[in-house]
Amino acid sequence: MLTKNEIYEALVTDYTAEGQGVAHIEGCAVFIPNAIAGERVRVRIEKAQKTWAAGKIVELLEKSPHRVNRACPVAKLCGGCDFWHMDYDEETRLKADRVRTCLNRIGGEALEGLPILAAPSCQGYRNKAQYPVSSKKGRAYAGFFRAGTHQVVENPRCLILPEQTDAVKDAVMDYVNRYRVSVYDETAHAGLLRHIYVRRGAVSGEILVCLAVNGRKIPRPEALTQALEKIPGFTTLVLSVNTKKGNAVLGEEFITLYGPGCIRDTLCGLEFRLSPRSFYQVNHHQAQRLYQAAIAQAEITKADTVLDLYCGVGTITLAMAGAAGKVIGVEVIPQAVEDARDNAVRNGIQNAEFFCGDAGAAALELEKSGVRPDVAVVDPPRKGLNADTIEALARMSPRRIVYVSCDPATLARDVALLKARGYKLKNALAADLFPRCAHVESIVTLVTEK
Ligand code: SAH
Repeated sequence: MLTKNEIYEALVTDYTAEGQGVAHIEGCAVFIPNAIAGERVRVRIEKAQKTWAAGKIVELLEKSPHRVNRACPVAKLCGGCDFWHMDYDEETRLKADRVRTCLNRIGGEALEGLPILAAPSCQGYRNKAQYPVSSKKGRAYAGFFRAGTHQVVENPRCLILPEQTDAVKDAVMDYVNRYRVSVYDETAHAGLLRHIYVRRGAVSGEILVCLAVNGRKIPRPEALTQALEKIPGFTTLVLSVNTKKGNAVLGEEFITLYGPGCIRDTLCGLEFRLSPRSFYQVNHHQAQRLYQAAIAQAEITKADTVLDLYCGVGTITLAMAGAAGKVIGVEVIPQAVEDARDNAVRNGIQNAEFFCGDAGAAALELEKSGVRPDVAVVDPPRKGLNADTIEALARMSPRRIVYVSCDPATLARDVALLKARGYKLKNALAADLFPRCAHVESIVTLVTEK
């Protein structure tokens, strides 16, 4: 076991899923934030366990050629991004390698390389922001949580967001300070404003502002609306009533104070309505490329029925509808299903059907009622597929399963489970939808061996 507060010399060889550097010292894995593979460092141990330790760089002995000056002034404090200290080549290399390693180690593959769709820009790409708010000495401010804490780090200009999004945050905080709107304090479970949620359509420019509040009203709403109207694209202001303790940003109830309560955006040539609760990929450009890859990998024909599990507002479902005979989407959030149905209508798509429910339960029911999709698309949250979904897929036995994933570890686990049910891996591709952040998206296709 390593000794706490002791300084050791180490060679960084790899990265954790969260993007920290990994070195091995005396057989112990040491996690080192802001370290780059290939660097030799002196590291102070801050936490020591039997098999692992956490440390901080005290001296860079050999610097990686991929190390760069951080463009973001608060990068070291803010828990939002992970990679401002390295160039984008190293970031995409490590992301592709993470997907490849998971598929090999957990998924039983032997891939030697894996392509990645790198992003053309690392800045201004995020179409959604959720700013927690806090206050100090009577002044309220918004920002992002410091890594592993609920301390709010103020950041006048977040580089991964469009300027308009930060302008909304500034307008809301001006209003909050001017009208002395109270800020939520989680220890006391008191105070009104919890989060400022902003979503901006990358193509439409429409902006939805949603305030997550511990209550049902805000003071002087017209003063806030007037200020927001000065921001080009401002479309709607909504309150999300969240009076529960805990980390969830949005509550169940939404109260529209201005505008239609949702925005529109265009993706893959289709128009989508987006409610605050509905999922929508945060990087528009890269999402389009990801969906195009999904469509290509699906190899759909006009005779095919496509089942899209975890379909959100029907982005992939509707983008595939034109090539297919019929498309069926399943999604658990009722507002997203309403959006999906509306999206089919507004795009004149008549061969799409949407069901609201758990993907696994709905798929089992569809299977019982005789539905036999030729192609299945799954795009689950980080925890991956549940046992029911795997079972339903195995029983329905689609020719192809296109799996879009935001967590390579659960993707690889599910690939192994589907391989045990007679599928084999056909294509694997990583996609960078979150430049400067450790998350990586990937897409694989599984085909039946029969
Ligand atoms: N394919 C869509 C959405 C992917 S995100 C797109 O790319 O836009 C994953 C979606 O799964 C979310 O919309 C989430 O609400 C939904 N979801 C989460 N758990 C689910 C479950 N158990 N059953 C069905 N949908 C679920």
